[in-house]
Amino acid sequence: MVEVYKNGDLHVWIPVAAETDKYPARAFLPINGLNEAYLHGYKAEISESKYLEALCDIQNSFLSNESKVFTVNGGKKEERQYKAKWRHGRQKNSPLLGPTKGWVKVNLADVERIDDAVLAKSLDNSDSKYSELESSILDPILCGSDAELAEQAQQIINSIGDKIPMGQVTPKKSSASQEVFLRDAAVVAYVLNKAGGVCECCNEGAPFLKKNEEPFLEVHHVKHLADGGSDTIQNTIAVCPNCHRELHYGAGQQALIEKLYSNIERLICE
Ligand SMILES: [Zn+2]
Ligand SMILES: [Zn+2]
Repeated sequence: MVEVYKNGDLHVWIPVAAETDKYPARAFLPINGLNEAYLHGYKAEISESKYLEALCDIQNSFLSNESKVFTVNGGKKEERQYKAKWRHGRQKNSPLLGPTKGWVKVNLADVERIDDAVLAKSLDNSDSKYSELESSILDPILCGSDAELAEQAQQIINSIGDKIPMGQVTPKKSSASQEVFLRDAAVVAYVLNKAGGVCECCNEGAPFLKKNEEPFLEVHHVKHLADGGSDTIQNTIAVCPNCHRELHYGAGQQALIEKLYSNIERLICE
């Protein structure tokens, strides 16, 4: 069930230690952002590593059931320790915890925003030692053509609610002979939803309804993809065809773009 995180994965498995009389359940989460260093591993062999590296060590050790026997109590007693246990905190004497409660699959973009309690609750609601956290982030739905993009966006437009598309900071290109940017249908659906049938540039209603009765607006990248713009909700707007043409070809293009940045809170100048 647990998979070791690989660079580029959108999700990550996080171990959670069960609550005790004294302490609430605790998860292996980054303390101060993903770059925080960690002390973890065997009682006698503490290594230090960045969060994701440390997490991968724990995941690998869990999957291979790696353990070691230590002599404790002045040689009187032997104790087996599993490496998938980790230390909570950065002190060498901080307690060893383990995935005694289970593992939760989390969207990588959520990792810095969740806490131990959220993960513990997700496992409490599961009937196994594994669960998946419903994310507030939408994974990209990459589409290679305008038709596919429109169709995919239409399919999810009524179900995305308050979820935020992850988008693509660096838009991927298809491997077809003629390179085209792949676009995220979730970004299109979100931006059309936000616009609610009103052009985000001139604030007029869409000029006509499509065959499916939805208002016709086009989704435009304020900084063009070809100029290195991102395919994210911070760089996209829903506009009427007139404004869209003007944004591409108008003499007042620059002034229009500045107006958009000051009027639409969601946008971030790239
Ligand atoms: Zn308009
Ligand atoms: Zn455009």
